[in-house]
Amino acid sequence: MIYLDHNATTPPLPEVIEAVTACLGSGWGNPSSKHAIGQSAKSALAAARAEVAALAGAQPVEVVFTSGATEANNHVLTGALARPSAVRRLLLSSIEHAGFIKAALKLREHDVEVELLPVDGRGVLRLDDLRVALERPAALLSVMAANNETGVLQPVAEVAALARAAGVPMHVDATQQAGRLPLDFAGWGIDLMSMSAHKFGGPKGCGALIVKKGLAWPALLPGQQERGRRGGTENMPGIAGFAVAARHAREHMQAETLRLTALRDALEDALRETVPGLTVFGSAAARLPNTLFISIAGQSADRVLAALERAGICAASGAACSSGGSEPSHVLAAMGVPKELARDAIRLSLGRGNDGEQLSRTVHTLCSLQSETAPAAA
Ligand code: PMP
Repeated sequence: MIYLDHNATTPPLPEVIEAVTACLGSGWGNPSSKHAIGQSAKSALAAARAEVAALAGAQPVEVVFTSGATEANNHVLTGALARPSAVRRLLLSSIEHAGFIKAALKLREHDVEVELLPVDGRGVLRLDDLRVALERPAALLSVMAANNETGVLQPVAEVAALARAAGVPMHVDATQQAGRLPLDFAGWGIDLMSMSAHKFGGPKGCGALIVKKGLAWPALLPGQQERGRRGGTENMPGIAGFAVAARHAREHMQAETLRLTALRDALEDALRETVPGLTVFGSAAARLPNTLFISIAGQSADRVLAALERAGICAASGAACSSGGSEPSHVLAAMGVPKELARDAIRLSLGRGNDGEQLSRTVHTLCSLQSETAPAAA
């Protein structure tokens, strides 16, 4: 099998499996218990918090463990509206994760104004439109760090400066950037940030919301855990795995970025040379090192995915969460890509296990498609 769907999820690292297993086997205490077994879990929780904070570029006290980015994102929406001073207006980029946009739009049923901010043809937020949107008060501005479909990076620090000047709290969904490129919660000057462990070798069902120290923000769930920010006994096996994945990502990031950028660029070049009618989405902007989002003229996404599947290659049509739906990607629509082209988009997202040989096989499979469909000579 060749796994090219790392933006959907990544295989857990062997060290992560070990840490999760050890936690279930011997580190199973409740961090809130006062006895020795509980206190040992409490120390493990503190150590994990420090690892996640280091990856986020934040302070340990700012880390709130959650069940993943979905929970963190949803909480950011409801939390923003629950603040005493909040106006009922939310600003999100139009390319946020589909589930996040859906959650925000649902709030329109409760008299919340939700504005989706446009991006340009490269997939980058239009700062002029943002400036206009920020002229009126809002309870929240949310702009993701890296897009899950195109891999396009957003100018987070610049956006944060505009939000700060307008007095609007800023949230960044860093789920796709976490573990792949550095995060700088403090340096970006943002207020909230979401991440999910399984996007970089950690377990599923575990993530974090980073909340700026001193920011008065409502609790996610009542309870004394997480300093009153999120009640419920902590998911210690998940958190232990999250911490190991965070450390691994931090220690290998520089080398892995170089390796994946070289692999992705070579894959892109080879496809451009050998596959007629190839479109690459988002390539005019800075992207994650691992992501390649393409469309091949005359080849439906279903056909391309089936051919890849036959060759033992796992890829995706757009985001995992929206594939299966018949609507073309909202991200490509926001970039102004025509529907016919967007409908057939295929995402190849690379990761730890991939090498040049696997990608040559992928190129071979994709360029054979053309000859399979070429009309037979009369
Ligand atoms: N945001 C982004 C950008 C994502 O890519 C994902 C996962 N596809 C999520 C949020 C949700 O993450 P999770 O399913 O782990 O909660």
